[in-house]
Parts: sequence; structure tokens; C-alpha cells
Amino acid sequence: MRTTDPPSRSPSLDLPERLGAVAVRPGDRRYDSVRHTYTRPGSPGAVLLVRSAGDIAAALAHARATQVPLTARSGGHGISGRSTNDGGIVVDLSRLNAVEVLDSRSALVRVEAGARWGEVAAALAPYGLALSSGDTGDVGVGGLATAGGIGLMSRLHGLTIDHMSAAELVLADGSVVRTDVEHDPDLFWAVRGAGANFGVATAFEFQAEPVRDVTVAVTIHDAADTSAFLTRWGAAVEAAPRAVTSFLTLVTGAGGRAVAQAMTVYAGTDATAVRTALAPLLSAGRVLRNQAFTTPYHQLLPAGHEPQHAQQPLSVSRSGLVDHITPPAAEHITALLETAGMVQLRSVGGAVNDAPPEAMAYSHRTQNFSLMAATVPALRDDLDQRWERLHPHLNGLYLSFETRTGRQQLEDAFPGAVLERLIALKSHYDPDHLFDNNFALPSVRFPH
Ligand SMILES: Cc1cc2nc3c(=O)[nH]c(=O)nc-3n(C[C@H](O)[C@H](O)[C@H](O)COP(=O)(O)OP(=O)(O)OC[C@H]3O[C@@H](n4cnc5c(N)ncnc54)[C@H](O)[C@@H]3O)c2cc1C
Repeated sequence: MRTTDPPSRSPSLDLPERLGAVAVRPGDRRYDSVRHTYTRPGSPGAVLLVRSAGDIAAALAHARATQVPLTARSGGHGISGRSTNDGGIVVDLSRLNAVEVLDSRSALVRVEAGARWGEVAAALAPYGLALSSGDTGDVGVGGLATAGGIGLMSRLHGLTIDHMSAAELVLADGSVVRTDVEHDPDLFWAVRGAGANFGVATAFEFQAEPVRDVTVAVTIHDAADTSAFLTRWGAAVEAAPRAVTSFLTLVTGAGGRAVAQAMTVYAGTDATAVRTALAPLLSAGRVLRNQAFTTPYHQLLPAGHEPQHAQQPLSVSRSGLVDHITPPAAEHITALLETAGMVQLRSVGGAVNDAPPEAMAYSHRTQNFSLMAATVPALRDDLDQRWERLHPHLNGLYLSFETRTGRQQLEDAFPGAVLERLIALKSHYDPDHLFDNNFALPSVRFPH
């Protein structure tokens, strides 16, 4: 929380009875299992395993009164956002994890923010339904659904937030709201792309899609001529039918040769259609290994509930959106490999670009790829310099993969009028900046 008063040097961790009953504090045998996240170590003063919106409202009131730092956590897989802290309160929503099919005929589902996407996929599968979310079952609903959601069927079904029909939040003043296109429509617009700035989301309603088995091809390519490979792969993805979504990971393999692993999902199982659709992608570069199989969609996203211990050493990452992988863009992406331990491209395009840019705070509707490059903290400056050279070839930014938080990143994530509207809404809904942990927006009162 930002304040005009001097910051408190020794925040009290005495908790009111209601919060004490759900708290895990240092010294508790459970503490080590809840203090860290996937990318960040933390030493919070209390992790609150909240069970209701009322618990969350009480936590917000306590944080405001004592000026203790406050962080929301759903799945703990944040890259752009911190979901732990040092000495403060973590509002952990993992107990709020119900997944409910409200109406199987209209495919309307309600998902609580503390569920993992693997749990969502497993719960919807018996109904023949799915939501395209991301590539990892342990990622939490709350962090992803307040930012975007680029999933393994994004070209066919769009972003996860394109399917959102309502959101339930606890706002900074403790009020509990359900927002949709008719109720607090400005808030609903803001939640879908910049949600973590506006409250603690407790649940969402989504329109799911009928999805059964999918075909997956996991292909390892020799990408020694990385730029040429990337240009061909990008063109093949753009030309592919919408049933095809491909995620590419580039790493430097043995002997310094670049290797690319493509995980390509075809939403369907018709063998002839699959072969025809995937052939151009396979010919993007020499295939070292290829494995294709059909599977129920939900089995691609197991939620293993891996213990979090800041296990991801590549904790610095940069993010950008790309319209087309042109040869110059490919050259600059290739140069990232000299410092980044991992470079990933996720296809967007297709149905993602069907939504009008003004529909929600995530406004990027012309791009075909989301790019991220991750490295260790010691190589941050080198990655930043290479990213600067790539920047003119980018068009916007998906905030979930960005760890840098300057004005440039805000303007890339929320171009032009989008940022202006968000600043006005931040000033209204969170004037004291209680929620500043994921890509903090400025406000009228705190413009920087
Ligand atoms: C291994 C891995 C793979 C990924 N793959 C994809 C992918 O394929 N596609 C994609 O789109 N993204 C992907 N992501 C990015 C992911 O969507 C974001 O990091 C997301 O924020 C994680 O959500 P979480 O709930 O697990 O995170 P958390 O760490 O719990 O939270 C992240 C941020 O969001 C805030 N937040 C969390 N819950 C709430 C809530 N309920 N209300 C308000 N604010 C909240 C937190 O305060 C924090 O700042 C991936 C991340 C990882 C680590």
C-alpha cells in the first residue's frame, strides 16, 4: 500500500482472532510450505489461508489499519507479479478452489480463484468442456484470469479472459462485488487484463467450449540456423488453420547449437486433417525427434501441486508481442539466446484477434505471437540491452511474462487510451494502492 504518511518500520503481525484462525506464521510447521512461490523466495509475517470473501475483507482492513504490506496469491506461479513478501500478509486463496458447472447446456462454469488450471481442466472434462488457459496445470486461476491466458487452443478459442462473463472481487474498501458487462462495466473491463490492480478476485464465471480429444505433436528441431528457422516456423503457424496452436521453446543445446522444441496442439483427432495441418510446421526445420499422440485435453495439464521453493532460477524475464516473425525480428530473437536460458514463443492470433481491442484492458488484437525470454539475475543487464534492440520489432506486451516494471512496460502493455482509462479507474477503485503487486498502475494521487 502507498501512503502519504511515513512508512511503518515495524509492522505489527498481531492479527485479529478471525485472521489468526487461518494464519500460518513463522514457527508453524506448515510455514516453509507456504512462504515461497515458484520464482520468488519470501518471508511473510503471515500467510492467511482464507476461506471466504469475509476473511479477505478482514485481511484488507487489517492491512490498511496497520500498513502491513499485503499480497494476494492464487497458484503462486506469478512471473510478473509477486505473490509473497517479507514481513507482510499473504492472502492465499488456495482453499477457495471450487470448480462448478453452473449449466452444462450453455457451458457456463464458475471457477474460484485458488483453483489450479489443471483442476479446472479435470473438472470440466466429464462434461466434454474445456477452457484454453495455459500450458501448465499448476498455474493458478487468479493470476492468469486477471491478466490474459494464452493457452494451448488459443488460436481456436481465444484468450481465457475472452470467455469471462463475470468476476467476483473484494475491493480495497472491503466491499464484495460481482461485476459483468451490466454491473460495474468499467471494473469488468479493467479486470480482464489488469485485474490484480483492482481487488482480490475470488471467483470468475466463464463460457467454456466443447472440447474432447486433441492431437499433440512434440517436435524437436535442429535450429542451428535459428533466424531462418524462426521465420519459417512463424509463417507456417500464421498460415495454419485455427485448430492449430503451437508453443515453441528455444534453448542452446550441446555444442552451442540452438534446438527448438515445438509443442503443437491440433484441436481434433482426424488423422488426415492433422497431417495436412501440421506438415508445414514440421518442415520449418530439420526434425530431430517427433512424437504425436491423441489425448483428452485435460491430460495435457496435470496439476501436480509441486511444492514451491523459488525453484525457477530464470527469474528475470522480458515479454513482448510480435505481429509477424520477420527476418530482422528473427535475428534479434536469435541474439537473445546468447544470454537467455530460455526463449519461448506462444501463438496467439486466430480467435484471439476476433475480439475488438476496446473490449477489455487486454487490447492486443493484431499480434500472432507472444515472446518471452528468461535469464538469471546476474545476466539481467545483458538481456535488457538485447531486448532494447529487439523492441522496435515488437508490438505490445503481455504482462504475465514481464518482470520489468517501468513506464515503458506499462505503455507497451496498455497502449494509449487504455492506460489513461486504467489510471482513472485505479484512482477510483484503489486510491491508496493496496493492490500494487502485479504490474502496478499509477493513479492521480500517485502518478509514478
Ligand atoms: C511454468 C509457468 C508456465 C506458464 N505458462 C503460461 C501460459 O502458457 N500462458 C499464460 O497466459 N501464462 C502462463 N504463465 C504465466 C501465468 O499465467 C502468470 O504467471 C500468472 O500470474 C500465474 O498465476 P498464479 O495465480 O499461479 O500466480 P500468483 O503467483 O498466485 O499471482 C501472480 C500475481 O497475480 C496476483 N494475484 C494472484 N491471484 C490474484 C487474485 N485472486 N486476485 C487479484 N490478484 C491476484 C498476485 O498478487 C501476483 O502479483 C506461466 C507461468 C509459469 C510459472
